[in-house]
Amino acid sequence: MPDTASQTSNRPPLPPEIGRRRTFAIISHPDAGKTTLTEKFLLYGGAIQMAGQVRAKGEARRTRSDFMKMEQDRGISVSASAMSFDYAGHRFNLVDTPGHSDFSEDTYRTLTAVDAAIMVIDGAKGVESQTRKLFEVCRLRDLPILTFCNKMDREARDTFEIIDEIQDSLAIDVTPASWPIGMGADFLGCYDLLHDRLELMDRADRNRLAQSVRLDGLDDPRMAEHIPASLLGQLRDEVQMARELLPAFDRQSFLEGHLTPIWFGSAINSFGVRELMEGIAEFGPPPQPQRANREVAPEETPVAGFVFKVQANMDPKHRDRVAFVRLASGHFQRGQKMLHVRSGKQMTVSAPVLFLAADREVTEEAWAGDIIGIPNHGQLRIGDALTEGEALKFTGIPSFAPELLRAARAGDPLKAKHLDKALMQFAEEGAARVFKPMVGSGFVVGVVGALQFDVLASRIELEYGLPVRFEPSQFTSARWVSGDKAAVEGFVNANKGHIATDHDGDLVYLTRLQWDIDRVGRDHPGVVLTATKEMHA
Ligand code: GDP
Repeated sequence: MPDTASQTSNRPPLPPEIGRRRTFAIISHPDAGKTTLTEKFLLYGGAIQMAGQVRAKGEARRTRSDFMKMEQDRGISVSASAMSFDYAGHRFNLVDTPGHSDFSEDTYRTLTAVDAAIMVIDGAKGVESQTRKLFEVCRLRDLPILTFCNKMDREARDTFEIIDEIQDSLAIDVTPASWPIGMGADFLGCYDLLHDRLELMDRADRNRLAQSVRLDGLDDPRMAEHIPASLLGQLRDEVQMARELLPAFDRQSFLEGHLTPIWFGSAINSFGVRELMEGIAEFGPPPQPQRANREVAPEETPVAGFVFKVQANMDPKHRDRVAFVRLASGHFQRGQKMLHVRSGKQMTVSAPVLFLAADREVTEEAWAGDIIGIPNHGQLRIGDALTEGEALKFTGIPSFAPELLRAARAGDPLKAKHLDKALMQFAEEGAARVFKPMVGSGFVVGVVGALQFDVLASRIELEYGLPVRFEPSQFTSARWVSGDKAAVEGFVNANKGHIATDHDGDLVYLTRLQWDIDRVGRDHPGVVLTATKEMHA
């Protein structure tokens, strides 16, 4: 499809199949409406027949593969997945960000796999804490952001106030793509500032998309046929003021992450959803070059991709894992042989999976920008590169030093060996850090947020039938150890009680005092302690 939006100004034209792809995530504070919006995307993307089915299907799968019990109990989304659907000639790849309020590394890594993000905010609540955190991660990568202000069918804040809050608290310019007409019970729809048309909400049928009325600008007399005089006057005044006070849409500025267009709507009423999808389709971005030891451009012929997430036990009947791979370049075909750069081994990808709504299906092909799942028995780890031969190292997929450490104890001492295995698996999946101390038995487990211990305990019990306790550890901090070989050896020998290895076999220094960490710098000049480890092949 000829597609001007697929070309960003300084990039060569993309092959049409790649240019039509849009790979994005939705970021939001819990309850803002991410699930509802996702559901509507899939509904209008033709991936499902009826709204409500994502949830229904999701629940069916959950009962099958019970590991989401935590999620049901707490109303949080612990697992992430990727979903693909088509709309208006575009292929959308929506990568789900784990939504619980405890932040995990997963969240950061998910955002390394997308080219753009939709920020959903609740019109009554504005920018909330989790929105802000996720936004900051997007900013680190200069991701373009589209904003959806949801729940306009309820009492919401004043439109200017919402926009000001986003500009002030997130330090990003905001341009209205649409302007709400009325609010709460009086909410009628929006005026589309980018296309000069009226979008009217259908209150009678929640699953019907808005009715569009093409107009010749705000002064078109047909406006009065649809909008009562009082609201029409207000709309004209507000839009005029917005056009004077707020920046106009500028595609380049949007693509660079400096300007976010905002749409107002109501996901539950299917209102604003199509406009948002059209916004992504029209303005992009298409698949972007990915950072590696060199920049990997989507239009390059050789296929290359990287693992940004590993999920185990999606189907407990088969103890399989699925590695989620973001294709960075090329046209991948089922059965293709790929070099697994870390091990140096060839692997034949015979059953690549695309995630269509809640189902997974084997796919015959995929293009740069797509997310495919590769079932495997543990060979594929986060950060791994798959290529047609080049020893690429993708960068920017960080592993963070955990902020909370606890000792793992098997509820049943006879099953301690099984616990080792379960913990290693979660470490490979990236769900936790697992450290094996050089001295003594047992493991120290580290996470970024406290809730992750509950999630882990629940999954270990459900998937392995092992009761596990996480007890206070004598250590509170972990740092990766690197540096001059002799210096590292000397350091390790002098601190055996503090040294452990992570699941990759890399050395880690465990301590309870910041003072200890500072002292290492003085006593062992050749040793470097770091709080992050870049994960790559
Ligand atoms: P998530 O936690 O961000 O995934 O939010 P959900 O999509 O689960 O929505 C949270 C709650 O808000 C649910 O009860 C939804 O039915 C409700 N909700 C979502 N969108 C709208 C909307 O446009 N209007 C109203 N009034 N409620 C909504």
